[in-house]
Amino acid sequence: MVVPQSGLPERVTIYEVGPRDGLQNEKTLVNTEVKAEFVRRLLAAGLPIVEATSFVHPRWIPQLADAADLMGLLDAAGRDCPVLVPNERGLDRALELGVKKIAIFGSATDTFAKRNLNCTLEEQFAMFEPAVKRAREAELDVRAYVSMCFGDPWEGAVPVQQVVYVGKRLLDMGANQLSLGDTIGVGTPGHVTHLIESFLEAGVDVAQLAMHFHDTYGQALSNTFAALLGGVSTFDASAGGIGGCPFAESATGNLATEDLVWMLHGLGIQTGVDLGQVVATSSWMAEHLGRPSPSALVRALTRTS
Ligand code: MG
Repeated sequence: MVVPQSGLPERVTIYEVGPRDGLQNEKTLVNTEVKAEFVRRLLAAGLPIVEATSFVHPRWIPQLADAADLMGLLDAAGRDCPVLVPNERGLDRALELGVKKIAIFGSATDTFAKRNLNCTLEEQFAMFEPAVKRAREAELDVRAYVSMCFGDPWEGAVPVQQVVYVGKRLLDMGANQLSLGDTIGVGTPGHVTHLIESFLEAGVDVAQLAMHFHDTYGQALSNTFAALLGGVSTFDASAGGIGGCPFAESATGNLATEDLVWMLHGLGIQTGVDLGQVVATSSWMAEHLGRPSPSALVRALTRTS
């Protein structure tokens, strides 16, 4: 049943991360044609943005070593999908393939920057700047992920003003959008509200903010609702809830696209997404991954007995 509530956006953009953030954190290697079919099916289900892959060095993420081959298998709509690039070399590969949208992956904490980017929190800006500058000169859209916005497994609590500082630096560098990540899933709704308000107080337009919640502690939809009340209208999700964070202990990770769509549609918020088609796609992918989907919605809607 659809019961709208006032004070929420009429329409939400779901930024699908399953083929990149999902598959990169799955143990099972999926072949390139299956990945291409995954992207095609997600686009056909009405997801407006599907992040296809990452041009990170195969040594770090062997699951996505076939990034160039995958992009070659996609048609024009597929090649319009954003890809993650870690540096200028990754940008070169993306530009060669005619990619129009890229994402970079920053850190809100010093420890995660050192572990994941091999540089300090402050050094990451110098590392990203040449790639962002060249991408913007080539009229590419640049999304900047900010990871560990709500907590860090090594540092614990992350000061809200530190997150705002990192996000502002990335926007000032030329990024079009920030994706604020609760990488280990420890955030709660009041924290979400406070973080969004702090960005607005710092002069950031809410339209430039996207939220990337993880359901590790069961808080992803509560946090989404808080962000909707704060005016955010772009949310990241992973079809079937695949992937997550290798640093979080629990098996669950990324917010499932289906779980998000169910809540949004129940609130009367438009997404353009066909829930049944996403569920069918996630069930199909679960077979390739050799395990059931962690999404509550996928389980509920595919129950046979
Ligand atoms: Mg994620």
